[in-house]
Amino acid sequence: MQLTKAMLNQRADQVYDVLVVGGGAAGLSAGIYLQRYLLSTLIVDKGKARSFWMQELHNYLGLPPDTPGREVLKQGKAHYLDLDGDYLNAYVEEVIDEGETFAVRVRLGRQNPTYRTFRSRYLIAASGIIDHLPQLANMQNVFDYAGHNLHVCLICDGYEMRDQRAGVFGSSPGSLEVAFPLGWFTPHITLFTNGDFEVDQERRDRFSDAGYRLIEQPIKQFLGENHVMSGVELADGTIVELDTGLISMGSKYHADYLKGIELEYNGGNLVTDPMNRTSHPRIFAVGDLKVGMNQVAIAAADGAQAATQIWRDIRRAEGTRRPAAIAA
Ligand SMILES: Cc1cc2nc3c(=O)[nH]c(=O)nc-3n(C[C@H](O)[C@H](O)[C@H](O)COP(=O)(O)OP(=O)(O)OC[C@H]3O[C@@H](n4cnc5c(N)ncnc54)[C@H](O)[C@@H]3O)c2cc1C
Repeated sequence: MQLTKAMLNQRADQVYDVLVVGGGAAGLSAGIYLQRYLLSTLIVDKGKARSFWMQELHNYLGLPPDTPGREVLKQGKAHYLDLDGDYLNAYVEEVIDEGETFAVRVRLGRQNPTYRTFRSRYLIAASGIIDHLPQLANMQNVFDYAGHNLHVCLICDGYEMRDQRAGVFGSSPGSLEVAFPLGWFTPHITLFTNGDFEVDQERRDRFSDAGYRLIEQPIKQFLGENHVMSGVELADGTIVELDTGLISMGSKYHADYLKGIELEYNGGNLVTDPMNRTSHPRIFAVGDLKVGMNQVAIAAADGAQAATQIWRDIRRAEGTRRPAAIAA
């Protein structure tokens, strides 16, 4: 059920089998499997998933290659709600491990927020990441193109960039190295530092040997119309024509709510076993937040694995069949 503020008292004493933080591809997939295992699930999602920002899903078996991410989420949420899962639009602020259960503190609303605490036996961290973008004076100019032909994911969109004039927008010398795998798809590559960092001589030589142009001036704005970026205007007014772009600036990892719990990380990603269990026996991590490939197919598979392992744990602990009627 889609929970509203008015309904929350009805859930005050409930201990869910699983609370899923994040309702993107990974969290919804986990929720669908969990409900089908007759487990009780609450998905808490703050919105603006990476899956939502994905304008077109190009590489998912069985879906037309121009399926918008928001359609995948809409369909996935409807499927989950049909299976009687609970879903709440809210922000998870903190998770406290109480031993047998987790106390999960959520914030509802931005202005005049209210706070609630939910309890669950297991937790799935499906809260994903969000890409850093070039910081220009007018950020709307960046939002107009990011996710359209100004891409953020080489695995997703390298094919779309084939043989095009591509700009690579980095945040550090190392981040520009993505030009080399991009070179598999197109040789026409221009690298931009936006004047933010120096590039060492060894890298300059390698970029130059590969035929990549390096531009170190600040960027004034992206050019284009109807969400199709056609180039860049530099601070001195020079225009660099492009057909496409790739932002390579790293990401913010949405895991602040876990900071009170000791977990193993690799960079910002949670380390898991093959069934997506973290170093904590009752916390699983799925999708972009865990170590692995950032793809919808992987996120969906992760959700299936985590849910299945949690069902195995609970089934082995309880031993008997659970009637559907007491699943919630
Ligand atoms: C522009 C773009 C294009 C892409 N193209 C493709 C493609 O063609 N093919 C492909 O396979 N992949 C593509 N991807 C990658 C794909 O979108 C991700 O791999 C996928 O969305 C990961 O799903 P997820 O569920 O892990 O994370 P998300 O979809 O990001 O979902 C995480 C959810 O958790 C929520 N959340 C975060 N913190 C909290 C909190 N504290 N409390 C409550 N909720 C929280 C977020 O708001 C979000 O709704 C693309 C990504 C982008 C950005």
